[in-house]
Amino acid sequence: MLEIVPAFARIGEENAFAVLARATELARQGRDIINLGIGQPDFRTPDHIVEAAVKALRDGHHGYTPATGILPAREAVARDVHRRYGVEVNPERVAIVPGGKVTMFAAILMFGQPGVEILYPDPGFPIYRSMIEFTGATPIPVPIREENGFAFSAEETLSLINEKTRLLIINSPANPTGGVTPKAEIDKLVAGLQRFSHVALMSDEIYDQMTYDGENHVTLLAYPEIRDRLILLNGWSKTYAMTGWRMGWSIWPDACYEAMRKLAVNCWSCVNAPAQWAGIAALEGPQDAVHAMVAEFDRRRKAVVAGLNRLSNVTCLTPKGAFYAYPNIKATGWKAKKLAAQLLEEAGVATIGGPDFGVHGEGYIRLSYANSLENIERALERMGDFLAKAPVT
Ligand code: PLP
Repeated sequence: MLEIVPAFARIGEENAFAVLARATELARQGRDIINLGIGQPDFRTPDHIVEAAVKALRDGHHGYTPATGILPAREAVARDVHRRYGVEVNPERVAIVPGGKVTMFAAILMFGQPGVEILYPDPGFPIYRSMIEFTGATPIPVPIREENGFAFSAEETLSLINEKTRLLIINSPANPTGGVTPKAEIDKLVAGLQRFSHVALMSDEIYDQMTYDGENHVTLLAYPEIRDRLILLNGWSKTYAMTGWRMGWSIWPDACYEAMRKLAVNCWSCVNAPAQWAGIAALEGPQDAVHAMVAEFDRRRKAVVAGLNRLSNVTCLTPKGAFYAYPNIKATGWKAKKLAAQLLEEAGVATIGGPDFGVHGEGYIRLSYANSLENIERALERMGDFLAKAPVT
């Protein structure tokens, strides 16, 4: 009898992948499925980025690189951060990692152990909680409330910190809600954190370029008073439609960088070398594809929110960021996961039930609008028909 260590019984997963598998299986059987489940842009990686990877391979960039990434890629990240936020970053504190997830994996491993607490947004990206439980640390959900426009509350977050807290995870613009936390609230959080110098902070800003209605992203990097304990998570996946390339970047405080480098040496050695050259081309090349993609998401955002609010017993706040709508379905009488499952099986529309993003997710479903306007309209029509006809079960 093989005995895998108990930590693996505590590790969770991302139900979006299970929904994708089921949607793909139904499509294979000939069903017409509209996938609003998966969180990845439905655009191609811009050509000049693909070409940079091809050229890198032809130029012989096929060997190992330094564990935390080639210097030109780390410098490109530092320049990008400076260009967009006016913040100075030392390239020696930048790590190029295989995807945004790897930063949360590393940060949670660095601070999680039995007896300590880690705070994370709920509803939120499911891997936060999964990894916290894997380490044996106690996960403490920070409720993200619709009444608060799906922003986090600084006061509530600070009230959950105690002497056992080691890491606080925040995420804005947020998955699954599309919520963006206003600057005043972030100011309040940072001010309050001065009382808790033992708490590290991981800010997941992977959707930083996807904000709407003139909303400017507020990066935690802009607060010098917390730079010595801030881990900044970002990457290429969403901004440049590069989810399958597995390219992320992060900025680490002095105290953590060496631990991060050693983890890389022990696990992935380095990120795929040609992909790193593509990453440089993405950051330094023309940004019009990014702007066009965000403009298209904005059009869809308006269509999806208007359509959802026309459905009976469904209400949806207008998300200010990312590419998700997070309607409140409580008045339909359906449990969220049941509704999401039935919408897929009966109406051919893939969505994700709110409880897949945490205990505070009941009563909501997540729709990714990374799909064509035409498909979004068809999906909304099918949802309307389904809700009108199907008895609540
Ligand atoms: N953080 C958030 C909030 C996300 O939604 C995602 C992906 O969906 C990630 C991180 C992970 O990104 P990556 O695919 O680069 O690992």
